[in-house]
Amino acid sequence: MIRSRIVIIGAGFAGYRTAHTLSRLARGKAGITLLNPTDHFLHLPLLPHVATGVLEPRRVTVSLPGTLPDVRLVLGEADGVDLEQHKVTYTDPEGTRGELSYDRLVLSVGSANKLLPVPGVAEHTHGFRGLPEALYLRDHITRQVELAAAAPDAETCRARCTFVVAGAGHTGVGLAAHGRLFTDALVRKGALWNGIRPRWLLLDTADRVLPGLDERLSATADRVLRGRGVDVRTGTSVKEATPEGVLLDDGEFIGTRTLAWCVGVRPDPLVAGLGRPLERGRLRVDPWLSVPGHPEVFACGDAAAVPDQHHPGRYTPMTARHAWRQGATAAHNVAATLGHGTRRRYRHRDLGSTVDLGGAKAAANPLGIPLSGPLAGAVTRGHHLAAMPGNRVRVAADWLLDALLPRQAVQFGLVRSATAPLDTASPGLARFPAAAPHPTDDRHDPHAQEPSRHRANHREDPHDQQ
Ligand SMILES: Cc1cc2nc3c(=O)[nH]c(=O)nc-3n(C[C@H](O)[C@H](O)[C@H](O)COP(=O)(O)OP(=O)(O)OC[C@H]3O[C@@H](n4cnc5c(N)ncnc54)[C@H](O)[C@@H]3O)c2cc1C
Repeated sequence: MIRSRIVIIGAGFAGYRTAHTLSRLARGKAGITLLNPTDHFLHLPLLPHVATGVLEPRRVTVSLPGTLPDVRLVLGEADGVDLEQHKVTYTDPEGTRGELSYDRLVLSVGSANKLLPVPGVAEHTHGFRGLPEALYLRDHITRQVELAAAAPDAETCRARCTFVVAGAGHTGVGLAAHGRLFTDALVRKGALWNGIRPRWLLLDTADRVLPGLDERLSATADRVLRGRGVDVRTGTSVKEATPEGVLLDDGEFIGTRTLAWCVGVRPDPLVAGLGRPLERGRLRVDPWLSVPGHPEVFACGDAAAVPDQHHPGRYTPMTARHAWRQGATAAHNVAATLGHGTRRRYRHRDLGSTVDLGGAKAAANPLGIPLSGPLAGAVTRGHHLAAMPGNRVRVAADWLLDALLPRQAVQFGLVRSATAPLDTASPGLARFPAAAPHPTDDRHDPHAQEPSRHRANHREDPHDQQ
C-alpha cells in the first residue's frame, strides 16, 4: 500500500493541532512530516511572563518529537512552495538546503512583526513575537534598571528607566502590565537611590486600549494599567525613533532606551510567494480551509484568510483560539480527501476573551460574562494551562514560586539586540549576523549563516554595551 505524504509547514497553534489530530486520524495510512525551524511548539500568549521573569523560557515550549511520536519532524524554514510540482524547498538550521514532496500540504506558518514606515523604528525597536525577543527584553529591562542606578546624571537615569510600548493590543497591554510589575520588583523600594522611579508608557493610535475587544475588557485593562502607574496614551503614535528616545506625533520627545513595537502582525511572507489570491497578506481559503484551485493544499491560522461563517463577508481574526480550532478542521478535511470521514466547514462562535494583566489581575469575558480582578486572573491562568499541549505542571510550579518568592533580578546578556531584529520573517529564531559578536562565537562556523528569509537591516544596539 502506498502511504500518502502529508507535509505540514509550521508547528504553532494551527500546525501543531493539525499534526496531532492527523496522527490519530491517519495512523498507518499516511506519512506525516512537520517542517518547523525549531523543535518545539511555542505558547505565544505566555511570552510576557518570559520577558518579565515570571516563567523560564523552556516552560512555554512543548517538545515536538516528545509529544508527536508518529510525526516526522524536519527542522528547517520553508522558502518556496511549487504548487504544480507538489514540492516544498527549505533551509535547515545549518544552512543546508532540502526538498519535500507532498500529496497533501498544510500551510500554517503564522505571522511576523508588522512594520510601518516610521523613521528609526526598524533600527531602534524590538518586536514581541518570539522567544529571542522575549529573552532580549528580559535582559535588556534588567540591564537598563541596573545601568540607571549607576547613571552619571538624572537625565540618563530617567531615560534608562523609561520603557515605551507602542501598540495597545493583546501583546502591548500584556507587556506593559507585566513590565510595570517587573521593574517595580527590580527597584524594590519603588525608586532608585536618587528618587527616580521606573516609568512605563503605552501608546496607541486608537481611542482605547485593546481596540479589537469588547469595550468592558478595555475599560478593565485601562483601569488596572493606570492604577499601576502605566502612562496610557491613546490617540498617540510614534513619529520617529532615535537611539536617545521616541518622538511622538504630538511633538513630545520621550527620552528612553526601550521601544517595544507591538503594533500588530502581518502574515508570514511565505504565503505571498505562492501567487494565489491574498486578503490583506493572508492566503485566501474556502470554508473547508483549502486553497481554491488546489484541493490538495490547505491553510489555517494567522497565515490564512478564513471566511467567518458567523459574520458573512468577514474573515476570522488572528487569534490562538481560531488557529487551534482551524488546525483540527484542517486535519479532518485532509483525512477526508484521503477517504477517512467527511469534510467539514470551519465554524467557531466567539466564546469570549481573556487578557492577562500580570499578578493576580486579568480581564476576561467567558461566555460574555465580564470578569475582573483575581477571579478573572484565575480564569485566565486556567485558560493558559488548558490551552497548552504540555508542560502544564512546570508552568504552574513557576507561577507558584513567583507568588511566594521575589523575582530573580539577573541578566546574562546572551541575547543581544542584533539577534532579535524587528524586521525579520522569522521571529522565532535568533539571528546571528556574521559580523555581530555572538556569545558562543560561532560566527566562524560556516553553518552559522543567516537563514535566507531573514532580513538584515538591524545594527547592534549601542545601549547593549555595558
Ligand atoms: C505576545 C503575544 C501574545 C498573544 N496573546 C494572545 C492571547 O492572549 N489570545 C489569543 O487568542 N492570541 C494571542 N496571540 C496571538 C496568537 O498567538 C496567534 O494568533 C497564534 O499563535 C497563531 O497561530 P498560528 O499557528 O497561525 O501561528 P504561530 O503560532 O505563530 O505558529 C507558526 C509556526 O510556523 C513556523 N514558521 C513560520 N514560517 C515558517 C516557514 N517558512 N517554514 C517553516 N515553519 C515556519 C513558526 O516558527 C511557528 O512555529 C498572542 C501573540 C503574541 C505574539
